Amino acid sequence: MAADAPAAPKPVPPKLNPVRVPIVEEAPDARVHDFRTVLHAYSREEAVLEAKRCIQCRRPWCVEACPITQDCREYIRLIAAEDFDGAARVTLRDDPLASSLCKVCYRYCEEWCVVAKKGVPIAIRHLKRAALEYGRSDLAYVASAPKGQRVAVVGAGPAGLMAAWDLGVRGYSVTVFETEPEVGGLMLTIPAYRMTEEDVRHDTARFRDLDVTFVRGRRVGSDVPVRSLLADGYAAVLLAVGTPAHRTLGVPGEDLVGVVPALGFLKAVHAGSTVPLGREILVVGGGDVAMDSVRTALRQAPGAHVTLVYRRDRKEMPADGEEVHGAEEEKVRFLFRKAPVEIVGRGRVEGLVVRSVELGPPDAGGRRQPVPVAGSEETLPCDTVIVAVGQRSDLRGFPDELDLRITPQGWPEGKGSAHATAVPGVFAVGGKSVVYAMGAAMETVGELDAYLAAQRGTPPTPRPDPFGSGPAFHLPPGYTKPIRS
Ligand SMILES: Cc1cc2nc3c(=O)[nH]c(=O)nc-3n(C[C@H](O)[C@H](O)[C@H](O)COP(=O)(O)OP(=O)(O)OC[C@H]3O[C@@H](n4cnc5c(N)ncnc54)[C@H](O)[C@@H]3O)c2cc1C
Ligand code: SF4
Ligand code: SF4
Repeated sequence: MAADAPAAPKPVPPKLNPVRVPIVEEAPDARVHDFRTVLHAYSREEAVLEAKRCIQCRRPWCVEACPITQDCREYIRLIAAEDFDGAARVTLRDDPLASSLCKVCYRYCEEWCVVAKKGVPIAIRHLKRAALEYGRSDLAYVASAPKGQRVAVVGAGPAGLMAAWDLGVRGYSVTVFETEPEVGGLMLTIPAYRMTEEDVRHDTARFRDLDVTFVRGRRVGSDVPVRSLLADGYAAVLLAVGTPAHRTLGVPGEDLVGVVPALGFLKAVHAGSTVPLGREILVVGGGDVAMDSVRTALRQAPGAHVTLVYRRDRKEMPADGEEVHGAEEEKVRFLFRKAPVEIVGRGRVEGLVVRSVELGPPDAGGRRQPVPVAGSEETLPCDTVIVAVGQRSDLRGFPDELDLRITPQGWPEGKGSAHATAVPGVFAVGGKSVVYAMGAAMETVGELDAYLAAQRGTPPTPRPDPFGSGPAFHLPPGYTKPIRS
């Protein structure tokens, strides 16, 4: 270069735009009458505008906060360049359940987006949806050379599906055992106004060329003992059995007609059934299942009064803010600081006795504990009580020798490194949300692959490009460490 050549101009940092391109929603008055989709996808033009707000951080906080390290920074860059096919490919490269997650992920990435410091974070989840709407999303995953080893996955929820995919693209022969007639796990209880079974089908259709076989309607533990899987030639077993059972309130009167477990209610409605409800519906709980229950009850029982009863305050509710806001817009009534004491009625529910609570000092986890106020009982008249206070595992027929740990949220996992159980070759995982369950399965598959590679006498390898042409699974430039929320 000549000595007097002018220096290249320094790139001007893009100006940070704090205002999000609005996401179009169905009006609350119109949407409560049926299960139509509430949030509409961006148009192509809106997606490009929103993607251009991203300043392409050198350190990708958004990727570090995503439990499956989805390279969202890269798909946003491609959308900004109007390359929707490229964006869809990057999305599906890291995320085999993208058609589902683009509708229901709790957006851990957005909590860490730097734009949130000045305004509204980039609509990362919604842009994922745009990538799949406008880019080529009917791609098929490609398996690498067969490894000659079989792996049994138990449970076809998000953890089991992620594991089956990750093992399948690595060249393992995978059999997924699932109790239910359909795959998807608890995703099949999420109401259709947020996502449909069709979304799960789109996702699993991309598995078509992998050596993954789904055995539906078969319960491991009772129909098939865990030990027999190892004896039948599976080199390893991954238990991803989640929380298929509901938790009860533990108060008198739960056996009355009109008391409805939320999980069964949402599952039946998702499958297209109508569940008979009354006119005065109380939903007990403050999490996402409670939020789905109030909003579904409104749609199933037009004109009924639907009230949420929760023992803490609004700001203490574990439910996603987007869902709480949706329920408020739909005119659900909220009753805070009330704890159920008894359900009363003569054969049928006639009322819920509640006691007022005050919030005491925070516990070790930082949450303020409800303290009952003596003599504050009152009866809330109602004809239906939907119980949405959590889920639990169902480990009937699972041997004690696995020495499983049950997490506070209810799913079983192995106590060893990467969730290995006490039985060699058996692992157990789950997670608090779809993407967390997938992230846990992803980490476990890394260890499981090392375990199987040792059996073959070869070194473990990173996950290959699932489309068979790019570099192996990698972390994007600038990535330092995972952020867990
Ligand atoms: C109503 C509702 C709404 C939710 N909404 C969201 C949301 O919007 N976003 C989000 O991220 N998360 C949401 N979640 C949470 C999310 O669905 C779960 O965290 C996630 O599904 C856990 O995945 P998993 O694979 O660990 O378990 P699960 O989804 O519970 O899947 C376990 C699977 O194993 C099967 N199984 C169990 N035992 C056996 C056995 N012995 N043999 C064979 N198969 C077995 C079960 O039938 C099931 O299919 C919601 C949950 C509920 C209930
Ligand atoms: S943190 Fe936000 S602004 Fe930065 S790369 Fe990710 S999406 Fe873009
Ligand atoms: S999967 Fe969820 S957390 Fe990860 S990038 Fe997508 S929306 Fe964000």
